[in-house]
Amino acid sequence: MGILDGKTVLVAGVTIDSSIGFAAAKAAQEQGATVLISNFGRALNITRRIAGRLPSPAPVLECDVTDAGQLAGLADAVREHADHLDGLVHAIAFANPETALGGKFLNTGWEDVATAMHVSTYSYQALTMAVRPLLSRGSSVVGLTFDASVAWPGYDWMGVAKAGLESCNRYLARDLGPHGVRVNLVSAGPLNTMAAKAIPGFEKFEQVWADRAPLGWDNTGYDTAGKAVVALLSDLFPATTGEIVHVDGGFHAMGA
Ligand code: NAD
Repeated sequence: MGILDGKTVLVAGVTIDSSIGFAAAKAAQEQGATVLISNFGRALNITRRIAGRLPSPAPVLECDVTDAGQLAGLADAVREHADHLDGLVHAIAFANPETALGGKFLNTGWEDVATAMHVSTYSYQALTMAVRPLLSRGSSVVGLTFDASVAWPGYDWMGVAKAGLESCNRYLARDLGPHGVRVNLVSAGPLNTMAAKAIPGFEKFEQVWADRAPLGWDNTGYDTAGKAVVALLSDLFPATTGEIVHVDGGFHAMGA
């Protein structure tokens, strides 16, 4: 018996088996959910191959969150497999590593900032609203953030995008709460994923994390984030929304 028995979940942002989205999809299946996964563009072919590594087969949908046409068609694409969604996972982010990350903060132009915001912040609302007709009372939306309450080395405009995402989480919770839909974020510590490897200097705070987190930290512990996502998707947090759950070994709570 799993905590997601009988539930159907769409996980957006699965590329390879180190993707947090993959860990969430795997944990959701292990807890009894029927899972659909999505990705975009060229990465889609990799996703189709990697889907075979999940415990059970999962349909792979195409959705570029910056493509209004694909967003408009997403609910129908889901309907080919399921008539409703109990859960949506947003595990998507992008900023140009050449211009918007890695210490170039003071010189980044609007186009690159706009891309970071579009893919990493606005898409949380856009993706949620794309599948809104499939969500109902009891459904749960979960996204992923990296603590945006402080500035980090190299994280630059992604940090600003995550601050926006954390605010977006609260506004989605405000507007969907009256319809019984919960919206929450998991704030994960540094995990050695494709997106993280693209951030110049990201490895620098992995050691800081391992030293300071009271529970210690494993930067390949993708499952820790995946399991927290599943907990928030489940019925075990019925009165929690607009929340940010830290899955960071306790790092955020330590002063030094
Ligand atoms: P990842 O690279 O495996 O996942 C990012 C996903 O975003 C990829 O599947 C990519 O294809 C997708 N994506 C990018 N642009 C897109 C677009 N236009 N349309 C649709 N999909 C698009 O890396 P990850 O670390 O698993 O990232 C997942 C989430 O977790 C992100 O929001 C990331 O910021 C967040 N996060 C990561 C860490 C970390 O240390 N890795 C920590 C905290 C939060």
